[in-house]
Amino acid sequence: MVDRVLVSLDGAVRDADAPLLYADDIGVLRGDGIFETVLVRAGNACAIEFHLGRLRRSAQALDLPEPELGRWREAVERAAKEWGADREGVMRLVLTRGRDSELSGVAEKVTSGDLAAAVPVPTAYVLVLPVPDRVQKARTEGVSVVTLSRGISIDLAQAAPWQLLGAKTLSYASNMAALRFAARMGADDVIFTSTENRVLEGPRSSVVIARDKQLITPPAKNGVLPGVTQRALFIEAEKAGWECVYKSLFTADLLTCDSVWMLSSVSLAARVNSLDGLRMSAPDNAQEIIDLVDRGIERAGAIGDW
Ligand code: PLP
Repeated sequence: MVDRVLVSLDGAVRDADAPLLYADDIGVLRGDGIFETVLVRAGNACAIEFHLGRLRRSAQALDLPEPELGRWREAVERAAKEWGADREGVMRLVLTRGRDSELSGVAEKVTSGDLAAAVPVPTAYVLVLPVPDRVQKARTEGVSVVTLSRGISIDLAQAAPWQLLGAKTLSYASNMAALRFAARMGADDVIFTSTENRVLEGPRSSVVIARDKQLITPPAKNGVLPGVTQRALFIEAEKAGWECVYKSLFTADLLTCDSVWMLSSVSLAARVNSLDGLRMSAPDNAQEIIDLVDRGIERAGAIGDW
């Protein structure tokens, strides 16, 4: 059984244990690139059109060349097929600006009129790895969470678009640092808050709260990444009679609602079972929400939905 699959954008299945990147790849040197993380289930890349839609938007935000979605689709299908249908996998779509040495030559190429050669060839590949052990536990038992300040205002995304808050860039070092900080406090995960005490998101998940028959998540304009899983849940939940709302949430709302959920493409629905040390018991409708997320990501398809 393969435990790593690597496919480059030309559709070639590569040796996943052989080197692929150049040492001067700008994705490595500066984290200057974008990615998507996609769940592979039953041999399919779940909600792939949503992910490709966000890849396109992230590329626009970083002024990267427009991704050729047809080629990405083929590479994704190839990688999912190689991975097989007998267990889940974590698929990453990675797109960087390419090699620094190619970028350095841009000025001369533009002056000499060689415009086609003026843009470095982006580095692009699809990688599938096994689902980490923590995921099953998060799905079945939920996660303990601490709130941590991100030190930013909810106005930052609009005031400073160059901060790329709505794009899924490769610069995740501070998100990973927050998770290590939480682990030292004995917690599994983090909910970032703004300087106004508003709820933002997790380092690798969207936050959704359930209250009566309402699901609420902070809007993207507050500086959070628009989540594929959250979007898929909202589409499915609306069909099932839930009212789904994008609204700013105060951290106090996390304690007064029925349940808090960390949603992400790999862990899917992880219920917050303790927040800053306070136990949060499971509501009667917890399984309903888990099922809505499951159905949501399996049915999410049309580009228009995103
Ligand atoms: N917010 C951040 C910062 C993330 O990294 C992620 C997922 O990786 C999400 C939200 C959830 O997005 P999705 O449901 O598309 O995985």
